[in-house]
Amino acid sequence: MKITACDLDKQTPAKTYTITAEGESPVELDLCGEHSAPIEELIGRARAAREGADQAAEEPGPAPVPKRGPARRAAAKKATARKAAPAKRTATKAAARAPKIMTLEEIEAQKRNKG
Ligand SMILES: [Zn+2]
Repeated sequence: MKITACDLDKQTPAKTYTITAEGESPVELDLCGEHSAPIEELIGRARAAREGADQAAEEPGPAPVPKRGPARRAAAKKATARKAAPAKRTATKAAARAPKIMTLEEIEAQKRNKG
């Protein structure tokens, strides 16, 4: 016969508890009487609570948190993300395109040069 020893202190006899948290793989615990006590207690309390029988077991339970507390306003996001925006270059091309004022003579001269 296989003797189960406590995982924690190697005491015998020990019971094997398989605990499965929802969504997790089961964990097997070998626990002696001392170390299984908390689990036994939990089981007992849970059963009692489900049956609604043992109301004597006082459960402090989490105190309800009043929602009236000073509402923490999310600190306004500081506009620290200053992207070094490239300075807008004055359109020099436009200036180049600007119509050049030429005299009639100059225009005629250009025409002649172009042949
Ligand atoms: Zn133990």
